[in-house]
Amino acid sequence: MTSTPSRRAFLRGQVNETLRQRPPGAAAEMAFHDACQQCEDCVEACPEGIIGVDEKGLPFLDYTKGACTFCHACTDACSYDALSPEREFLWRGAVEPSCLSMNGVNCRTCEDHCDERAIGFQLQTGGRAQPVLDEDLCNGCGGCSLACPVGAISFKQIKPKTEARS
Ligand code: SF4
Ligand code: SF4
Ligand code: SF4
Repeated sequence: MTSTPSRRAFLRGQVNETLRQRPPGAAAEMAFHDACQQCEDCVEACPEGIIGVDEKGLPFLDYTKGACTFCHACTDACSYDALSPEREFLWRGAVEPSCLSMNGVNCRTCEDHCDERAIGFQLQTGGRAQPVLDEDLCNGCGGCSLACPVGAISFKQIKPKTEARS
């Protein structure tokens, strides 16, 4: 089994790869590295099969496999403090410049696949339309990302609205 990087290693910059989207209820990244025991109970619990394991043995959301329903089966399955229902899910979608619609190709696929109605379009000149993603409506489920034909949806972390416990 891969060893978990320590908090000290994280602080020394030895764990500086792009942040992965951890399952709902995850502690902040440093604390998550410390708390997760790599048991993979969350992986097995996810009914959507969207929790993968990264190169360090830590679980992450793999939106190429499906979208999150926020059923919290993963959070409930965690016997440690790595996942807790007290923490907000802080990931939100963001549209990248490779979006077809931004480049004059008609596409509204992401809008059609967003149950939260978080995506709208602003018409631009030259037949282009700018997708506009409302962070307050988006819940970070990944449905749009899964549906986008060119992988133009990325995810970023927002600041917590309430104080996180970790
Ligand atoms: S909340 Fe449910 S669907 Fe989402 S990652 Fe956890 S188990 Fe899977
Ligand atoms: S689905 Fe992808 S390519 Fe199509 S409008 Fe949305 S972000 Fe752009
Ligand atoms: S992540 Fe989910 S809620 Fe947010 S825009 Fe995409 S489909 Fe809608």
